[in-house]
Amino acid sequence: MTAGDSALHHLDSAGMRDFLARFVQIPSVYLPDTAGANESAAAAFVVDVLTEWGLNPTVWEVQPGRPNIVAELHGSFGAGALLLMEGHTDVVTPGNLANWTYPPFGATVVGDRMYGRGTADMKSGVAAMLYAVRALQLAGSPFAGTIRLLIPVDEEGLMIGIKDIVARGYADGAAGAIICEPEEHEVCTAQKGALRLKLHSVGRVAHGAMPDEGVNALTPLIRLLNPIIDLQAELRSTHGDHPLLGKIYISPTVLRAPIGGDASQVNVLPDSADVYLDIRTIPGVNHQRIVATIQGYIDVLCQKHPSYQVALTIIDDRPSTEIPTSHPLVQALRAAHLKVYGDVPPYGGVPGSTDGTIITRDSGVPVVVYGPGHKRIPHQPDEFVHLSEVDNAARVYIHAALQFLSTPV
Ligand SMILES: [Zn+2]
Repeated sequence: MTAGDSALHHLDSAGMRDFLARFVQIPSVYLPDTAGANESAAAAFVVDVLTEWGLNPTVWEVQPGRPNIVAELHGSFGAGALLLMEGHTDVVTPGNLANWTYPPFGATVVGDRMYGRGTADMKSGVAAMLYAVRALQLAGSPFAGTIRLLIPVDEEGLMIGIKDIVARGYADGAAGAIICEPEEHEVCTAQKGALRLKLHSVGRVAHGAMPDEGVNALTPLIRLLNPIIDLQAELRSTHGDHPLLGKIYISPTVLRAPIGGDASQVNVLPDSADVYLDIRTIPGVNHQRIVATIQGYIDVLCQKHPSYQVALTIIDDRPSTEIPTSHPLVQALRAAHLKVYGDVPPYGGVPGSTDGTIITRDSGVPVVVYGPGHKRIPHQPDEFVHLSEVDNAARVYIHAALQFLSTPV
C-alpha cells in the first residue's frame, strides 16, 4: 500500500460531511456593529476539532470577536519544505431570504448537494483541507517538512485576517500555498489584481441661480472620468488580454454629490463629491503607474482650474499573482487531480482576488487556487456544493501534499 492509499483509507468522509453541515449552520457573516455577527463561533468550532486531533492550534483575535487560526502537521520523514493550505471562516450575507429555496444556514442535503451560505465559498474547502490533514496524520504523516493550515477571518472584507497572519511571519519561507477556494476543477495559476481608488472633490456651496459664487465639486470629477475611462483602452492595447484572466477593467462604480445629501436640493451647488474606481488588472500591469497616471490627470486639471480641489486615495491595492505551470506545487495538484478524477484538469484564472493575493504580495510565496465548488455560485442564493466533490478535493489535497513534500532536505 502506498502512503497515498494509506492516507485515503484514513479519510473520514462521513465525519467531514458532518463537520461541514455543522460549520455551515454557524452563520459567520461579519456585520460591523452587530453583536455576535462575526467569525468567533465558526472559528471556535474549528479550534475544537483541531484541538481534539492534537494539532494544538494557535488562535488570536485580529479584532474583538474576529479570531485567526493557525495549525500545523509535521511530517515523519524529517525536515523538508513548508506547504501552506488556506481557507477563510467568514461568509457573505445571505441577502434577500425570499430568493432562497433552502434556509441559508440549514445545510440542507438534497441528493449529492448541500445547500447553504458558505457551502462553496468556502466552508467545504476548509473541511476538505482539514480532513485531508487529519487523514495524513492518521496515516503516520508520511512526508517531509510541514503542512501549515492558515484559517483567517475577513476574506470577504478587506482581508485583515490573512494580512495579520502574513505580518506575523506564518508564510515566511513557505515553498507554496494552496488556496482552497471553489474553482470547479480548475488548477488556477493566476489571479487578477484589484486596485480601488477614491477621488474626493471639495467645492464651495452656492445658489444654483448664482453658481459663480461657489465651486461645483462635481464638475472636476466629471471631467476626470473621461480620461480615466479612456485609460482602460490604453492599458488594454499595451498589455493585451491574459490567456487565463482576460481583460483589464477600469470601472467607476460610485459617483455621488453632495456626499450624504439627497436629490431634494437641485438648486444648490454641491460642496463635496466622490468617485470610486474599481480597477482589475492582469500580470504585468503596474498599479503604482496607474495611480501616478490618474494623479497626473488631476494635477493637469487643477492647474488649469485653480478653484478645483481633488484628492486621490488608495482604498485597497492587491496585485495580480501568477505561478508558472511548471512549479512543483502546480504539477503536484495536477497529478493528484488526474489520480482522483482520471482526467487532466484545466488551468484557470481567478477573476476576483483571494487571500492568496495577500500571501504573494506580502511574503512572496507562490499560490495556486484549487478547491471544491462551482466558480460562479459563491455569493448567490441557493449556494451549494456537491458532497462527492468535497470528498474528491480532500483526496486531491492528500495526493498533492504527499507529492510536493516527498523529498527531505
Ligand atoms: Zn472565498
